Amino acid sequence: MLGLLTTILLSACGETTLTPTPSPATPAEVTGASSTKIKVVSTISVVADFVKNIGGNRVELYDIIQPGVDAHSYEPTSDDSKYLATAQIIFANGLNLEAWLDKTIKNSGTKGQLVLVSEGIKLLSKADDSDFKDGDPHIWHSTVNAKKMVDSIAAGLGKVDPAGKEAYLANAKAYNIQIDEAYQKAKAQIESIPPERRKLVTNHEAFTYFADQFGLEIVGSVIPSFDSTAEPSAAELSELVKKIKAEKVPAIFTENTINPKLAEQIGKEAGVKIFSNLYGDGLGEQGSAGDTYLKMIVANATNIANGLK
Ligand SMILES: [Zn+2]
Repeated sequence: MLGLLTTILLSACGETTLTPTPSPATPAEVTGASSTKIKVVSTISVVADFVKNIGGNRVELYDIIQPGVDAHSYEPTSDDSKYLATAQIIFANGLNLEAWLDKTIKNSGTKGQLVLVSEGIKLLSKADDSDFKDGDPHIWHSTVNAKKMVDSIAAGLGKVDPAGKEAYLANAKAYNIQIDEAYQKAKAQIESIPPERRKLVTNHEAFTYFADQFGLEIVGSVIPSFDSTAEPSAAELSELVKKIKAEKVPAIFTENTINPKLAEQIGKEAGVKIFSNLYGDGLGEQGSAGDTYLKMIVANATNIANGLK
C-alpha cells in the first residue's frame, strides 16, 4: 500500500524514473536479513513460544498448531507440509502428542533436522494407555521439564546456526530464570490450598507432571486418557462420579480446547462446581491469561487454587 502511495506521489512530482519501492511489510527482505534467518517449524504452541524466546530475530518461525487448538485432533494442512519441506530444523514434542507427525514429515520430503524436545525427560506413565506407552506426553506442565525443553531448543538452533550459538544459550539461560520465577508464583498459589483439598479432576489427563511437581493428587479425569479425543464409557463416568463424592473433590476443571459439556454433566451428578478453563494442551489465544508459557503456568495454578480453596 505504501509502495503504491509512494509511486503515485513520485508520479505527481513529475518523476519519470521509478525505482522499486520496498514494501514496509517485509523490511527483512530489503536488508537481506531474511536470507540469513533460520527456517524453523514447531508443532505445538508451547514449543513455538520457547522457540520465539530463544531464537529471537535470528529465526523465521512457522508454528503448526495455533493457541486454543486441540493438539490431539489436529489435521495438518498443505501449508504445514510446504513449510516443513523447506525447514532447516523442526521442533516437536513427540510421545505421540502429534499423532500425525511422522507421516507428515515423511511426505513433506524435508531434509530439516527433527528435534523431539521430550528426549531426555523423565516420563510419568500409567499402565493401561496403549497409545502412549512411553508416558504422558504433556511434559511442559512441569517447569523442570520445560527448562530442559528450552535447553534442547537452544542446542538444536546452535547446531544449524553455529554463529548464533552463544546468543541462543544466553537467551535460554535468561528465559529459564523467568521459568523459575513463574514456578515460584505458581507454587505460592498451590500452597494457598488446604492440603486435604489438593485433589484434581480435569477434562483429560494432561496434568500428570503438574500434579507431580506441585503436590496435587489426581483423582480422575472426565476423559480418562492422555488423548482428549478418547471417549469414556458409561461405567468409567459413573465410577468417576463415585470417586469425586468419596474423595470430596471440591471442583472439576475444564480445558480451553475441550468441549465442557461432559465435564458439566459429571459436575452436576457429583454435586461439585465446574471451573473453566485450564490450559491443558497448549497456550491460550492471544489476549487470554495463558497466551505465553510463563503466564500459562501461573494462570493454571491460580485457577486450580481458586477452584479448590
Ligand atoms: Zn492432551
